[in-house]
Amino acid sequence: MFFMIIIMIFVHWQLRWRKRAKANDYLLCLCCGYTLEGLPEEGTCPECGIEYCGQDCRMVWEKFCTRTHTPRPKTSARKMDVDQVE
Ligand SMILES: [Zn+2]
Repeated sequence: MFFMIIIMIFVHWQLRWRKRAKANDYLLCLCCGYTLEGLPEEGTCPECGIEYCGQDCRMVWEKFCTRTHTPRPKTSARKMDVDQVE
């Protein structure tokens, strides 16, 4: 039960950040998540003081938002494909 609550909190947290990133055109600070919209393409985050690059921020947040958990094909399935080719 406790484990399920932890998973639910994690999923909720992840969905919340994805929604926030999309709403801000993926332009959030990589360190603290502060919205960087309206600020120069490169500079210092006004919230945490870390240097940011808008292009890198967008790339990382977009990757985070579009990442899906697709299982890898099983070894036996891949081996079967190889056997069929030969
Ligand atoms: Zn920051």
